[in-house]
Amino acid sequence: MTTLLLRGAAHVLTMDGADLADPDVRIDGGAITEVGHALERGESAEMDVSGCILTPGLVNTHHHLFQTLTRAVPAAQDALLFGWLKTLYPIWARFGPDEMRLSARIGLAELALSGCTTSSDHLYLFPNGARLDDTIEAAVEVGLRFHATRGSMSIGESAGGLPPDALVEREADILDDCIRLIDAFHDPAPGAMLRIGVAPCSPFSVSRELMRDAAILARGKGVGLHTHLAENDEDVAYSIETFGCRPGTYAEELGWTGPDVWHAHCVKLDAAEIDLFARTGTGVAHCPCSNCRLGSGIAPVRQMRDAGVTVGLGVDGSASNDRGSLIDEARQAMLLQRVANGADAMAAREALEIATLGGAKALGRDDIGKIAVGYRADIAVWDISGLDSAGSWDPAALLLAGPRGVRDLFVEGRQIVGEGRVLTIDTTRATKDARKAVEKLSG
Ligand SMILES: [Zn+2]
Repeated sequence: MTTLLLRGAAHVLTMDGADLADPDVRIDGGAITEVGHALERGESAEMDVSGCILTPGLVNTHHHLFQTLTRAVPAAQDALLFGWLKTLYPIWARFGPDEMRLSARIGLAELALSGCTTSSDHLYLFPNGARLDDTIEAAVEVGLRFHATRGSMSIGESAGGLPPDALVEREADILDDCIRLIDAFHDPAPGAMLRIGVAPCSPFSVSRELMRDAAILARGKGVGLHTHLAENDEDVAYSIETFGCRPGTYAEELGWTGPDVWHAHCVKLDAAEIDLFARTGTGVAHCPCSNCRLGSGIAPVRQMRDAGVTVGLGVDGSASNDRGSLIDEARQAMLLQRVANGADAMAAREALEIATLGGAKALGRDDIGKIAVGYRADIAVWDISGLDSAGSWDPAALLLAGPRGVRDLFVEGRQIVGEGRVLTIDTTRATKDARKAVEKLSG
């Protein structure tokens, strides 16, 4: 890979101690090799980034990429979580491999434009021959670093669960497929572009046994564990009624705490659960837009951070957002904590740290999330010469006033976005294909 020198940035938000004004950044072989002032050009190619702010690439810790083709479905627009799911399950049951790939391709391209360089995904239904392999294929095409988690549902309506029976799988088959995927795709090495996680959908769609067995399997294989937890009041009530305990206790009893676990939402964690997460190093994927969209509540992120809980951000599935912009999510995270706790509850820079370094930690990575020598070359370039930054006294406070999309984006040193356009896939074609897919799915 060619050495590239990003020359003359207005500002670099490093997430590694002090921010830097007017620095250059050198990328070589997928890693950041030099950060400093007036670096020698040497053999490097050069890109002018004057008038731009550099941040580490944003890290998305929770998504359901397959949902991109079911945005703004009228009957689901104003429903609460459980009603929303029941409206969408029958539509998702008509998906196959083509819909999975297309939906993921679009969702990942949209994320890239919003500054995201690493995304996790949580795919938990596999109708008509769809496989996790389909979304992995899309991630390779778009070029984002990818943590694909193998979701699952095993308790259908007839057994008292929420999903229709047609969308649930046998628990033995679920575990076998997790093993197949880990053996085929998981890369534990530093700089990995692809990792696999084990991710039963939620306590209300799988059995206690599957939760326990999934944790044992993931630990044996050295991969991460992910699920939804304590998303809203209904979710907590279900836990108390069905399992006789709150979600935190349920998770702890089944091995679902530790630095290799990250839970989505956690809107309703109480003080004891926050303490449990802090003590055990358990991570949280905070999804503020989805929590607003579904009226779930405001996650106690200020309290979590103060207690030492690892918090990253997630856009959540495109059907409960219905946008997939990670920079929007970071701004929303900042605003919601201010609604709950006052204007000094979260600074723009802290929210950006959650979106980058926080997400990296939640995914168990110590090689991304900073612009520092030795870290992977995952860099977002934000042009602050436009209208949306004009008049700002502090353009580095990107989440207060700044662009909502990147000018350029690098993942492992490779340019994925240039001049605000995705370079790796034909987005015009993908948009047309999405229109056709929606016609077919809604017809
Ligand atoms: Zn979710």
